[in-house]
Amino acid sequence: MAAMERKYILLVGDGMGDYPLHELGGKTPLEVARTPHMDWLLCNGRTGRVRTIPESMEPGSDVANMSLLGYDPMKYHTGRAPLEAASMGIRLAEDEIAFRCNLVTLLRDAEGVMRMGDYSAGHISTQEAQRLVLSLQDAVKGTPLKLYPGVSYRHLLVWKGGRGDLSTTPPHDIPGEPVALHCEVYRKEPVLASFVERASEILADHPVNRERVAAGKKPASHVWLWGQGKAPSLPTLEERFGLRGAMISAVDLLKGLGVYAGLKPIEVPGATGYLDTNYEGKVAAAIASLECSQFVYVHIEAPDEASHEGSIPKKIQAIEDFDAKVVGPVLERARMFSRVSILTLMDHFTPICKRTHVKDPVPFLLLEELHGAAKTCPPSTKFCEKAADGSSCDLKDGVELFHRFIGTSS
Ligand SMILES: [Zn+2]
Repeated sequence: MAAMERKYILLVGDGMGDYPLHELGGKTPLEVARTPHMDWLLCNGRTGRVRTIPESMEPGSDVANMSLLGYDPMKYHTGRAPLEAASMGIRLAEDEIAFRCNLVTLLRDAEGVMRMGDYSAGHISTQEAQRLVLSLQDAVKGTPLKLYPGVSYRHLLVWKGGRGDLSTTPPHDIPGEPVALHCEVYRKEPVLASFVERASEILADHPVNRERVAAGKKPASHVWLWGQGKAPSLPTLEERFGLRGAMISAVDLLKGLGVYAGLKPIEVPGATGYLDTNYEGKVAAAIASLECSQFVYVHIEAPDEASHEGSIPKKIQAIEDFDAKVVGPVLERARMFSRVSILTLMDHFTPICKRTHVKDPVPFLLLEELHGAAKTCPPSTKFCEKAADGSSCDLKDGVELFHRFIGTSS
C-alpha cells in the first residue's frame, strides 16, 4: 500500500547560505530571517554539515543538486547542458555533445578590445530570441550541428560526433572582461568556429537586433557556447533504492536532473523560479505526488536569484517565504502519511558579497520521523549557517547524506 510506505521529502532553498554582513550587524540573512519551521526542525531533528561540491569542481547548482540527490558528481556529472537538454525533451545519442548556446552581447571598447557586455543579451524576450534562432538555423545547415530554441537567452546546440572535453567559460563569469582568450577554444574546432562566425554575421544585420538597438536595448550580437557534455549515465533512484518519485522545480537544470534520476517532472502553473513563484501550488503538487509514490524533491530558486542580484531584503524575504510557505505547510500536510522523513537544506551558499556560489559545506536539517516530533523549541533556537557548529556530524558528500536520509548504508 503506497500510503503505508515511508515518504521522503527533500526541501531545497537554493543558495540560502551566506556570510555575515556588516549591513546586518555581522549576521547572515538566514540568521536574521524569521524561520520558525526550520527552527522547529533544528530542535526536533538532527543537524550537521555536508559537502555538496567536490573540492576539484565548480560550485554550480547542477553539481550541488546532483549531490543532494545522492549521486557523486565526480562520477556522474558530464556538464550542465545535457541536463538542460533532458528538461527540453531532447534525448542525446551516445556520440552527441550538448552545449548551452547563449545569445550574448559582445561590445568593442575604445581600444578595439572585444568584451563580454551581457551574458543574457539584456534578458532578451523569448519571442525575439525565437526569431533570431530561426534565422540562425542557416548557420547549422549541412553541418553536424543542431540548434534548439529555448527560453530567453538560453538555447541549446547539439554536436554529433563532437568533442566534449573542451574548456569553455560560462559567460556570466566574465562580465566586462575581454573575450578573445575564452574564444580560442572554438577557433581550434572548425565546426564550432564556422558556426560562431556565421552566427555573428546573421545576428549583425538582423531586424530583431536593429529594433532592439533603436529601442535602446542590448543587441544579441553573438552566440556563446559553454556547459557542454554528453548524456550522463545515471542509474535511477528506483534502480538504486526502489524509490519512485517526483521533481518539483521551475528551473530546467533541476528538471533535467530529475529526468535522469527517474523522477517525474511536475509542472506547477505559476512556478517562476523567483519571489513571485506559486509556493502553494508547489506544496500541493508535492503532497499529491506522494499519494502514489515515495519521494519528492521540492526546489525553490528565489534565495539564489536574490543573492545574484545582491539584494539583502529580497534574500531575507525569499528565505522567510521558503520557511512559511513551503517548510511550514509541508510539515503540516505531510502528517496525513503514516511514516515521513524530511530533509531540509540549501544546495550551496550564495554569499551576497560575492553574488555567486561558493564551495563551503552546508548545514542540513534531518527529521527522521515527523510523527512524534513535538518538542517546543527554546526561544534561542535559530537555524542558520552556524547551526551545525556544535555538531560532530560532518558528512563528506551528498551520497552519505542521501543514504542517511533514506536509511541505507553507503
Ligand atoms: Zn543552486
